[in-house]
Amino acid sequence: MNKKSVKDVTVKGKRVLVRADFNVPLDEQGQITDDTRIRASLPTIEYLVKEGARIILASHLGRPKGQVNAKYSLAPVAKRLSERLGQNVALVQDCIGEAAQKAAEKLQDGQVLLLENVRFHKEEEKNDPEFAREMASLADIFVNDAFGTAHRAHASTEGVTHYIPAVAGLLMQKEVEFMGNALERPERPFVAIIGGAKVSDKIGVIENLLDKVNALIIGGGMANTFLKAQGYKVGKSLLEEDKLGLAKQLIEKAKSKGVALELPIDVVAAKEFAAEASHRIAALSDIQDDEMALDIGPASAERFSTIISSAQTVVWNGPMGVFEMDAFAKGTERVAKAVADCKGTTIVGGGDSVAAVEKTGVAERMTHISTGGGASLEFLEGKVLPGVAALQDA
Ligand code: ADP
Ligand code: MG
Repeated sequence: MNKKSVKDVTVKGKRVLVRADFNVPLDEQGQITDDTRIRASLPTIEYLVKEGARIILASHLGRPKGQVNAKYSLAPVAKRLSERLGQNVALVQDCIGEAAQKAAEKLQDGQVLLLENVRFHKEEEKNDPEFAREMASLADIFVNDAFGTAHRAHASTEGVTHYIPAVAGLLMQKEVEFMGNALERPERPFVAIIGGAKVSDKIGVIENLLDKVNALIIGGGMANTFLKAQGYKVGKSLLEEDKLGLAKQLIEKAKSKGVALELPIDVVAAKEFAAEASHRIAALSDIQDDEMALDIGPASAERFSTIISSAQTVVWNGPMGVFEMDAFAKGTERVAKAVADCKGTTIVGGGDSVAAVEKTGVAERMTHISTGGGASLEFLEGKVLPGVAALQDA
């Protein structure tokens, strides 16, 4: 990575403001239902504890829209962090102001403090310079470990970097290195698998990847628009009529670049979008007017798996079907297993894709699972993430 990391600076006795991504899912009772993001932040925090830094953690949680709202308090996170770290993590009621200043000043080497939700202030998402300056004044160094929010230029991700030296945390470094290496220096064959609901969500990703990959596999709802562009009837399937021209262009672009564009060769078709809907395997030429394609078929899954098995680099974003319903999850599961079996570097990004990989039980067998949905998508689009760009160059 061409940015400095927390290991490139002296942190002993320094107050270090760490922007983490503690945006964890909570149930109705305010209990954390999945603490993956908290666990992902531990390497950086534990490193700083060991080095004797004075650690001030900041994060957002949910969308409180600039208002203090107990529902979005980081209190459950403070509790879980205390358990995971084996030391007390006190929660300060506000991320700026006197209470935060006092708490920061009292910190001893190796102690950890958590500031309350930065989005309780509307200035956070506006990247207000005065608000950012106040937050930065709590610390000597800024460490950004919130990859999941790196695609947003907010006060706690970008604003603070104008006031104190800013470096990457270990999670941020890992994310940027894995995805950056895959995109810039891939071992070949490099195969990308793109799926999900709509072409329009992933145009930028497909265009960027067409310049880099050897093969591009397209599945999910978006495949219908490509199939229709090739002249197949797709019945009631999810279809973006206004993207047919674009799909044709992308098919041409792939051809001219020598990229193998792989579309489904069969589908799982149903008459209703429902978990209990009766369904059948249909050839592309046999999708009826009252049917919709809700998954790739077994022949497609086999073909995609064969391509994946010979890859040295795989990047996957977007499920192959409506994996939330068991009847239409098989294509995604088969692809997930193929990616897990692949001997090369395998990277999965995207909220639903990660959920699908976890549901299939193969998450541990991937080289890297990105913690950032939107951020990983923008990374795959080749965009510069403002939260990364703002860090000191190595
Ligand atoms: P990610 O979060 O991994 O980036 P997306 O959000 O782009 O993925 O897409 C996931 C959604 O796409 C899922 O909710 C899934 O049900 C839907 N989907 C996949 N295939 C189809 C299909 N054939 N028809 C309708 N929806 C689909
Ligand atoms: Mg999604």
